[in-house]
Amino acid sequence: MQKIDFTNTEIAFNDKTNGDLAWAKHLFTIIKSPLMVKTGKHLLNIALTIRFPIRWIVKPTLYRHFVGGETIDKCLPRVEKLSNSKVKSILDYSVEGADSEKAFNAVFDEIVRTIEITAQNPNVEFAVFKPTALVFPDILKKSGFDNVDLSELETKGLDNFISRVDQLCQIAHDRDVKLLIDAEDVWYQQSIDNVVVAMMKKYNGKKPIVWNTWQMYRTDRLQNLDETFQNARNDNYFVGVKFVRGAYMEKERKRAITGKYPSPIHPNKEATDKAYDDGLTLAMENIDICEIFNGTHNENSVQLLVNRIENKKLEPNDSRIWFSQLYGMSDHISYNLAHAGYNVVKYIPYGPVRSVAPYLIRRAEENTSIKGQTNRELSLLLQELKRRKKEL
Ligand SMILES: Cc1cc2nc3c(=O)[nH]c(=O)nc-3n(C[C@H](O)[C@H](O)[C@H](O)COP(=O)(O)OP(=O)(O)OC[C@H]3O[C@@H](n4cnc5c(N)ncnc54)[C@H](O)[C@@H]3O)c2cc1C
Repeated sequence: MQKIDFTNTEIAFNDKTNGDLAWAKHLFTIIKSPLMVKTGKHLLNIALTIRFPIRWIVKPTLYRHFVGGETIDKCLPRVEKLSNSKVKSILDYSVEGADSEKAFNAVFDEIVRTIEITAQNPNVEFAVFKPTALVFPDILKKSGFDNVDLSELETKGLDNFISRVDQLCQIAHDRDVKLLIDAEDVWYQQSIDNVVVAMMKKYNGKKPIVWNTWQMYRTDRLQNLDETFQNARNDNYFVGVKFVRGAYMEKERKRAITGKYPSPIHPNKEATDKAYDDGLTLAMENIDICEIFNGTHNENSVQLLVNRIENKKLEPNDSRIWFSQLYGMSDHISYNLAHAGYNVVKYIPYGPVRSVAPYLIRRAEENTSIKGQTNRELSLLLQELKRRKKEL
């Protein structure tokens, strides 16, 4: 079995200057502290609520590390830089908190631009969008339950959402662009799934254009994936499967306690890891009707898919299988995998500073709460800085 060497920091940080590394080291040292992140999140939320300017503090710090820029054009130099190391890009318009039909239409127009650029630029591999950027989330929540009547206004809002998603899928289909649809909180996800399944049936007859996301921290997702494959076989369409563990664990658990319903999340990390790996294995067994996007910073889940590719005697760069990490995180995985010949793509979030703030808070929290992840980033940065010093 090919073992990927994730510790090769020369490859991992090949396109970073010493200044970039020193800066990243500084940032990860700060966000390693739970107290700093908790306080920072609190202050940032207050600043957002009272519309206090945050640009001066956020732009040169978290934003600089985790975000590509404010516009597509600003991201393009990063796309080109990544492509020099054979890493492709996804331009992810990461605005959150749009709160009017006008704002949803503006987000829609921007997503169309990302689909167009994906069609034109060979270094941009997928387009993506987040469903709650296109509709009032409460409408998704309500419409996901059976027997809940929507008001006339809500019905109109839901129809607008479905129409926006349908148009995006149609454009992606016409431009032959793979379109990822992010997964969100459990209580929005049923409505999202209903729409995405309809789109897969409509647009995936020849290949996966529309991709849904499976959050494997959910106890019901492995079975859902299995059923999706069965339905796709029965109805003759392809499935685009984006795997993630899931980003909203703490919120979901708190809500389940408050709402007095069983937590939808696996009881522990081991159970989530097992579901994730079983999901990858199941998808590989169905590779004749699906394509796979392995969205993770977990080295074991990356190595497992590498092993499955080898077991099936597929080429490392089989066009149906992609590995992905977020911009600013786990370059040791992205660059070493790409160097070994696998298909790798980075999510590059972009957008105005204020609108991407919730995304940045999630990244900071994730890097604080995930056991070992920040330490891993820090130790690799230190290793590379040391290696370069020795070289001098
Ligand atoms: C390219 C990409 C796209 C993404 N898109 C989405 C998306 O559309 N929707 C979304 O929700 N997230 C998305 N994420 C974030 C993702 O869901 C994870 O939060 C993040 O990647 C960390 O998981 P991991 O597999 O990288 O790492 P790991 O460190 O192995 O796993 C951490 C994750 O394990 C789970 N976990 C941790 N502790 C426990 C516990 N005690 N019990 C049960 N489970 C636990 C949680 O999901 C946690 O985030 C994306 C991530 C990437 C890399």
